Amino acid sequence: MAEASLRDITTALPASAPSAASDAADQQPKKFPKGVVLGKDGKPCRSCTSFAAWATQAKDQTKKDAVPGSRAVSTAAVASGPPADCPPDVETLGRSTWTLLHSIAASYPETPSQTQRSDLLSFVGLFSKLYPCWVCAEDFQGYMARQKPQVNSRDDFSQWLCRAHNDVNKKLGKPQFDCSRWDERWRTGWKDGRCD
Ligand SMILES: Cc1cc2nc3c(=O)[nH]c(=O)nc-3n(C[C@H](O)[C@H](O)[C@H](O)COP(=O)(O)OP(=O)(O)OC[C@H]3O[C@@H](n4cnc5c(N)ncnc54)[C@H](O)[C@@H]3O)c2cc1C
Repeated sequence: MAEASLRDITTALPASAPSAASDAADQQPKKFPKGVVLGKDGKPCRSCTSFAAWATQAKDQTKKDAVPGSRAVSTAAVASGPPADCPPDVETLGRSTWTLLHSIAASYPETPSQTQRSDLLSFVGLFSKLYPCWVCAEDFQGYMARQKPQVNSRDDFSQWLCRAHNDVNKKLGKPQFDCSRWDERWRTGWKDGRCD
């Protein structure tokens, strides 16, 4: 997939149904605020949408339905993401997932067996199909098609993953992470000792 076609779903995707969504989505009235991403069932996809956009559409819906006793979410709460015991938005899910992926890389052997290599390849392949934010998943599959996962050693995989994460960072307008410091961030802790 070309760089330019990567989608920044928090800012660029229209509030209407995405093109790859089902016919049902195409028939949805275009009534969702900007940034709300629809799932393939044509309904708003929570794990594809930032909490800010989600809360905006939920507020609109609450106003329409006028449910007595319903609670408005404060602006500050929206900025800090969903409460910890609520379903994750795209950012909370992403943060937790990167933590898992980088931690898997951190515990991957320096010299993996053939089985371990094959297991990791299977895991990454299945992960890219099952990731709940379908827009993210499709873009990640595109990245994997362009840049084959490197599983020959911990260093190979961690650097591949770091570049994959940077690819998403770039798409979202976030700073690039210095991959030479991957080990400190995800395995050993920073050299200044603040993680010990
Ligand atoms: C496979 C995947 C695809 C995604 N696609 C999208 C998408 O299309 N649209 C969207 O809105 N969100 C997407 N996300 C979520 C997005 O990447 C972020 O997780 C989310 O925006 C929260 O960002 P954050 O700033 O908290 O830090 P995160 O990007 O979640 O990073 C967590 C921590 O990892 C470290 N880090 C940052 N970059 C790197 C790197 N390159 N290598 C190693 N460590 C690093 C930093 O310490 C950072 O604080 C995706 C997530 C995943 C797992």
